[in-house]
Amino acid sequence: SNKDRYAVFGSPIKHSKSPRIHQLFAEQTQQSLEYTAEEVPADKFKESVDRFFSQGGKGLNCTLPLKELAWAYADHNTERANLSKAVNTLALQDDGSILGDNTDGCGLVADLNDNHDIFLKNSRILILGAGGATRGIIAPILEKSPQQLVIANRTSEKARDLAEGFRDWGKIIGCGFAEIQGHQFDLIINATSASLYDELPPLAENLLAEGGVCYDLAYGGKPTSFVRWGVSHKAQKSLDGLGMLVEQAAEAFFLWRGVRPKTKPVIERLNFARGFV
Ligand code: NDP
Repeated sequence: SNKDRYAVFGSPIKHSKSPRIHQLFAEQTQQSLEYTAEEVPADKFKESVDRFFSQGGKGLNCTLPLKELAWAYADHNTERANLSKAVNTLALQDDGSILGDNTDGCGLVADLNDNHDIFLKNSRILILGAGGATRGIIAPILEKSPQQLVIANRTSEKARDLAEGFRDWGKIIGCGFAEIQGHQFDLIINATSASLYDELPPLAENLLAEGGVCYDLAYGGKPTSFVRWGVSHKAQKSLDGLGMLVEQAAEAFFLWRGVRPKTKPVIERLNFARGFV
């Protein structure tokens, strides 16, 4: 077809919601485009991306386990992508070069602020996990001037190294799970992949401050183990990452098309489809 072509690459990719999200954005904004999902393992990344762009593709999303490779692939990257050393969006530029961006962090902040009226200024924030997703969300969170940001990880060394790298950007501490015992947070973000296995990091009973909020980057057909932990620990709100997924997609769509789609109707549709109200 002669429509502009976009795709998401990753592995596994079968259950990706991105094609549906971008189809809904395209309908809403009356843009003519095609968006597909392609199973691409890390060892096929370069040839697959080369092929996609040489055959006229306009833009790509990259997900697990390709974000670091996408960052290295791009001819140039936005500052936030360079800070995270991970890229979820590649965009063909007018001069033929490929730009890398990371829209995950601003997607999370947009979901918290715009969809849930949760603001980060002066709040005590804890991020669980120190992997690729955490790298992508630190700078956009620090930009909102929290009182403190603590990164806690099973492998404490990784959290410390990460915090060290962002030291000039705000008040940030990296540590292991043991060190957060006895402390309280207004917002706890689960960026571990534990939810995918229905597991939880070790969390103290009184970790969440009164009126605090829980947010799991993971999402699925039913509430994740961390969302359930939040509910059972009296979180004011306990949210999963579907809103972030739609918001990061909207930011990528804007980068590619110059048009900003409305996210709320799309989030509502996806929530309805998975039986959430
Ligand atoms: P990585 O594999 O890069 O990192 C995984 C992290 O989870 C590591 O810090 C690891 O700790 C920790 N971990 C894994 N299992 C356990 C466990 N059982 N107990 C404690 N810690 C554990 O993954 P990503 O950072 O790429 O992704 C993390 C999550 O975020 C995934 O669920 C992913 O689906 C989600 N995500 C959602 C997005 C959205 O739009 N909603 C966007 C991006 C990611 P260690 O270092 O010790 O191994």
